Amino acid sequence: MRFRYCPDCGALLSGRVLGDEGEVPWCDACGKPWFDMFPVAVISLVHNEKGEVLLLRQNYISTEFHNLVSGYVTPGEDAESCAVREIFEETGQEVEQLELVLTNWFARKEMMMIGFFARVRSGELRLSSEVDAAAWHKPEEILSLVSSRPGSTSRILCERFLSRAGVSERETAQES
Ligand SMILES: [Zn+2]
Repeated sequence: MRFRYCPDCGALLSGRVLGDEGEVPWCDACGKPWFDMFPVAVISLVHNEKGEVLLLRQNYISTEFHNLVSGYVTPGEDAESCAVREIFEETGQEVEQLELVLTNWFARKEMMMIGFFARVRSGELRLSSEVDAAAWHKPEEILSLVSSRPGSTSRILCERFLSRAGVSERETAQES
């Protein structure tokens, strides 16, 4: 989001050079900058004690691909708490160990994605209304189920998980 008008007072913004930041949108009336903003979301690859991966069907996101568990970070919340909260809300699973894996810019939606591996002890799946279905999958299956778009955060997380689990691309290809 790029500001043209001050969200506080409605004045048209000018530009002002602010140190190393260069020229930034500036409100003369309020005397403050309005930096470009973007949403921040977390996305978690949820895996269990058997090494299986939990994938969701969420038709409002895609009818083609399976999804990892994702959600927007709310103001005042840290990304780790958000990941734990979203996993519990959407699937009913309690996180035992959370590991920050990467951050990735989602260009098509202009948002920052923060990716985690989240280990849970698999319990009863309790799905929120945002989730149409969910199932545990063998690692060999997941690359053929998630988004095929290069640079997709889901895909990168799955690739990193497989590489760490020692599942080769050949095994993945044979499975699909
Ligand atoms: Zn203002």
